[in-house]
Amino acid sequence: MANRVWVFDLDGTLMNTLDLYEKPREKAYALITEILGDKSPALNEIKERHSKLDKELIPAIDPSTGKPYLYTKRRFPTSFVEIFKILCKESGLELSASDERRYYNQLYKIGLEAFKKERYKRKIKPQAFTVVRFLRRQEDILVILTKGDKGVQNDKKGALKEAGLLKFFKEFITVPDNKEKAFRDIMKRYPAESYYSIGDTYGWDILPAIKSGYFGIYIPSAANWMEIGKLKKIERQRSKIRSNRYESLIEIKEKYDYL
Ligand SMILES: [Mg+2]
Repeated sequence: MANRVWVFDLDGTLMNTLDLYEKPREKAYALITEILGDKSPALNEIKERHSKLDKELIPAIDPSTGKPYLYTKRRFPTSFVEIFKILCKESGLELSASDERRYYNQLYKIGLEAFKKERYKRKIKPQAFTVVRFLRRQEDILVILTKGDKGVQNDKKGALKEAGLLKFFKEFITVPDNKEKAFRDIMKRYPAESYYSIGDTYGWDILPAIKSGYFGIYIPSAANWMEIGKLKKIERQRSKIRSNRYESLIEIKEKYDYL
């Protein structure tokens, strides 16, 4: 029986992939502002309303598949097109059909830039190597459990492999939505004395893990778009007995003996 099993989240935890969305956002907002001209709302308003719309699309049905968008690759680019449509309507701007099509395509393409695989390798956090190697030396079991689009996450898996990090993990699991069942399945597959879940999204990585009997290691990141602005509330609600909050991955190594 293994001593400890560590289940790592990927985006925002082992990799800084969240900031890959920043550049496309800036580009798309700049384009929208340019097209709308004097009729454009302030940049901040576009930003806020776009972020809200992007979240609202998660459970919405993707007409091209008949299924919810969830965390698929199509959602983020679509959210630019959709916010543009809304803002055009509000501003009363009339575009020709061909301009409309051209702008939709341009915005969609900008959104897809968030998923360029060449950029993934540089996004692996340097401390990830230190911590993961350390845990393997303790003969603990390591698993990656990530929520997202299988194709997109597989590209990130490839980057981890190339960087020499993947070999330390027993499994790389991608789930389309809730992680709860996967947390329980991991417990069945790897009998151990204790289980830990490490992640930057309290509602996805920590709460369902605690429910399943894990100890949570919550490492919030400023770029986390799901929980931005909620950090104080989360901290008040967070179980201080069933979880710790760390500033960085490296604390797992530093505090290993006390965990
Ligand atoms: Mg994350």
